[in-house]
Amino acid sequence: MSFDTLGLSADILRAVEEQGYRDPTPIQQQAIPVVLQGRDLMASAQTGTGKTAGFTLPVLQLLSQTAVPIKGRRPVRALILTPTRELAAQIGENVTAYSKHLPLRSLVVFGGVSINPQMMKLRGGIDILVATPGRLLDLEHQRAVDLSKVEILVLDEADRMLDMGFIHDIRRVLAKLPAKRQNLLFSATFSDEIKGLASKLLTNPASVEVARRNTASSQIEQSVHFVDKRRKRELLSQMIGEGNWKQVLVFTRTKHGANHLAELLNKDGIGAAAIHGNKSQGARTRALADFKDGGIRVLVATDIAARGLDIDQLPHVVNYELPNVPEDYVHRIGRTGRAESTGEAMSLVCIDEHKLLRDIERLLKIEIPRIALPGYEPDPSIKAEPIVNGRQGSRGAPRQSSGGQRSGAPRPGGNGPRSGSGGNGAGESRPARPPRQGAAHAGQRRTGAPAGRSRKPSGE
Ligand code: AMP
Repeated sequence: MSFDTLGLSADILRAVEEQGYRDPTPIQQQAIPVVLQGRDLMASAQTGTGKTAGFTLPVLQLLSQTAVPIKGRRPVRALILTPTRELAAQIGENVTAYSKHLPLRSLVVFGGVSINPQMMKLRGGIDILVATPGRLLDLEHQRAVDLSKVEILVLDEADRMLDMGFIHDIRRVLAKLPAKRQNLLFSATFSDEIKGLASKLLTNPASVEVARRNTASSQIEQSVHFVDKRRKRELLSQMIGEGNWKQVLVFTRTKHGANHLAELLNKDGIGAAAIHGNKSQGARTRALADFKDGGIRVLVATDIAARGLDIDQLPHVVNYELPNVPEDYVHRIGRTGRAESTGEAMSLVCIDEHKLLRDIERLLKIEIPRIALPGYEPDPSIKAEPIVNGRQGSRGAPRQSSGGQRSGAPRPGGNGPRSGSGGNGAGESRPARPPRQGAAHAGQRRTGAPAGRSRKPSGE
């Protein structure tokens, strides 16, 4: 199928061609006609599937079909909400590229940077606003943005927004929007919470699914290496060195862990940088640019910072520590094996993490192949200890319902607290559930594993 058959205008097709895209991806083939019809959409698609163009192209088309008021303030007509600043910036870049030949203006707003330039730009009139929820509410509060004329709302990575505790912010944004509008919801996973949000938000939505729910791409070769915690760094350095890996994304659970690992790898002579919410936007952008152009080989990231990172054909992803929330494993390894390329996702699993591994395997409904590395066999005398998430995580209480109050919780994703410090504090670490006593060795086949998952704990 070619882009020409999807009903997009010549100006948009020209921009798509200039991006070098030949054929629409499956999500684009399915989503674009539905959005052009003006229907609500519920789409299951991860980053890497081309979902951004899947919603941006038809939104641009719809907006460009109706006249833009020449006089007076241009109200925001399309609002794209995303959980993180990285994702917002990437979507913003796509919107700019695809709207190159259209008389539409777009702007990206997120926290952690000065609000004044954003207010100035909004004053000039913006058709398409890409925003993280916290900063959007700040702008709305200061009457710098009028959301009452929004025609199309896109909630991107809705699952992550809920995970990050943005549900209240989302509700407050929704209350500012006109009742009559088109709604597009994108999510990599469809938990009950997401379904609940979708049922309130969407009217008679078309449903589009490209990657099967909670399954990892078959183009990703996954493996598990059992190794003692204290030897993980040595093993990682060895893998990178022996495999001559040029680009590897490594996940840690905490910001502190990311910094520490990046330092150690640098000491080993392996160029590495950490990327997480405590880093300034400039530092993150620099680290990503260094990584993309080969200046550094390793990017060590927390789940939240890595979310939405657009890195083409990333060959290696390493879970230096398993995530506390099994869905994050799917997101993490989704950074590799994109498009036509294949990728490798390795997890270094210490005895403390066997329970997390079982949760992940239960979600994926597979057993991830184990690879034994001679010389790195776990010491059988080491017993499992509860996972403590460094400085950030362990104080979280179990999350209430999706409507639970995040009283005074710092905002993850760089939206910063309304006032006071600009950091995002605990935003990147989710505390583990307490480990079950006597957890069986994850290398053995599971027997009688209980079905279902317990609720995710909070901490963000
Ligand atoms: P996304 O899932 O939106 O983050 O997109 C992932 C990557 O695929 C981005 O680098 C896009 O520029 C690229 N992309 C999107 N659509 C296409 C397409 N039809 N053909 C080739 N690449 C694409």
